[in-house]
Amino acid sequence: MKFATLTSCFRRLEVTSSQNEMIALLARLLAGTPPDEIETVCYFTLGEIGPEYSGVALGVGDRTAAAAIALAAGTDLASVETAARELGDYGDAAVRLAGRPPEGIAEAFPAAGPLTVTDVHRGFAEIARTSGPGSADRKTRVLAAMLAAATPPERRYLVRLATGEMRLGVGDMTLLDALAEAFLGAKAERPPLEHAYNISSDIGFVARTLLESGLPGVLAISITLHRPIRPMLTQRVSRISEIPERIGSRVIAVEEKYDGERVQAHKDGDDVTLFSRRLTDVTHQYPDIVRHVRRCVMADTAILDGEAVAFDHATGTYQPFQTLMRRRRKHRVREVAGEIPATYRVFDLLYVNGESYLRRSYPDRRARLEEVLGRDERISPAGRTVTEDLDEISEFYLACIERGLEGIVCKSCAEDSFYRAGAREWQWIKWKSDYGTELADTLDLVVVGANAGRGKRAGTYGSVLCAAYNHEEDVFQTVCGIGTGFSDADLADLPRRLAGARVDRQPARVAVTPQAVPDFWFAPAQVVEVLGLEITESPVHTCNWDPERQRGLALRFPRFVRWRDEKRPEQATTAAEVAAMFRRRREG
Ligand code: AMP
Repeated sequence: MKFATLTSCFRRLEVTSSQNEMIALLARLLAGTPPDEIETVCYFTLGEIGPEYSGVALGVGDRTAAAAIALAAGTDLASVETAARELGDYGDAAVRLAGRPPEGIAEAFPAAGPLTVTDVHRGFAEIARTSGPGSADRKTRVLAAMLAAATPPERRYLVRLATGEMRLGVGDMTLLDALAEAFLGAKAERPPLEHAYNISSDIGFVARTLLESGLPGVLAISITLHRPIRPMLTQRVSRISEIPERIGSRVIAVEEKYDGERVQAHKDGDDVTLFSRRLTDVTHQYPDIVRHVRRCVMADTAILDGEAVAFDHATGTYQPFQTLMRRRRKHRVREVAGEIPATYRVFDLLYVNGESYLRRSYPDRRARLEEVLGRDERISPAGRTVTEDLDEISEFYLACIERGLEGIVCKSCAEDSFYRAGAREWQWIKWKSDYGTELADTLDLVVVGANAGRGKRAGTYGSVLCAAYNHEEDVFQTVCGIGTGFSDADLADLPRRLAGARVDRQPARVAVTPQAVPDFWFAPAQVVEVLGLEITESPVHTCNWDPERQRGLALRFPRFVRWRDEKRPEQATTAAEVAAMFRRRREG
């Protein structure tokens, strides 16, 4: 496939304001893609180079991109920086700047004729492979040669792909809808594709299987070690007394909720791989957990789900999330691991000795987990109690808070309490310490817009427009604008943090009312935790929009709490959760 075919589709995706048209455009594109290029087309459309878990990183930042643009256009760095500043985007700067590249640059990336998708994939693979001394220079030359071989519209997307800032606003579910429409007749046929994606975390692989082996091939996709399973997520309620009604099981397991990092561990003999909640490979970050899994998991192969927590063995106390995050680093990993040891609290077992446990009930999975996991203070099943009694749930919760834990996660023990990969359903319900206070609701919202700052905030943003994720419709619906709670440093950093998501028009999957239209738009990318006073009805925000009453739901008195970089936009608080919070408040 010609790369130009792909980029002209990208251009149309960028300017459409209709989600259905977005799906139709993508479906047409996919239907015309040959099987050996479908994986790459899927990744590029999502703004990625490969499946997220593969950890393929180009290592191209703005500086390398700017140097490559300058080299390809035969101009200097200052001109590139000026154009990028004016246009707000290095991709657009690469379109504007045209000139003669130096002799011999084509040797860094030989391409015959117009660029194909395969050519571009080959170029990026070469850039990703390049490491060690002199690699920045080599990366720059390959990217410059790719740019020199490209037409102006192609250059825009080459640069955006290289810097990881595609901004098309296409999400995983949008792409799955398009695959269903293209190959199964209608987007309503998405569920089997979604299931295969949930257990393989690789849309490219699902798409290729669909093209080559049809639906039977997709249905046969099963768990594969070292390929992450999308994590099951929790629901929330506004009153602890709602948990028993909602959870759909008389017997409830109440587990300790740890404030650490979600870690999925794959053990394959001595070979251990760890994945974060975003499904990136974090094995190198937790050499201690790798050791504990190797030593204490009594099975040849296994997949565990749990939380890495910083635990102070001297005082016997759990440390906050921020302490654990000090381990997020490239260098001196082992040294810092010694200073801040991580404990692995395992709350689920998804696979053992070649067998999937996803369709086993929670009690069965837990029983098997306890057999498989040798006891050790550095790796153990999550602490819990099993009860039918609300008072016992409350007591267990209070005891957790006293011990410095974040709260509890209640889990259904019903026969159908399967592990639902990628889903946020009522089988798992969390209850956190901040829910009990007056300022009750923290939401994880997605930044979709911002207003210009004035006065003291000139030069940065004055407020950001935040949205919840409507899972059913696969759109982002606004709930509030936040302007308070930011430290001076957070505020000053806002333009840098949001720059990569800036787009010049309203993204198709973002719904706003005319009153809420912001000065600047962002493709859904950044997730922010927000604390608010209450949820109210509002004509300004589109969350759970009721067309008859012309009202949605809004979060009142929202304050910035922290950025949630470990969450993808589709893992933000859902519109359904906001609706549930609103209903409970009103009734309670
Ligand atoms: P939140 O990040 O507030 O949406 O809470 C859900 C997260 O809590 C999960 O993704 C896990 O990382 C974490 N967690 C901590 N303890 C547990 C537990 N016992 N069961 C499930 N999730 C837990």
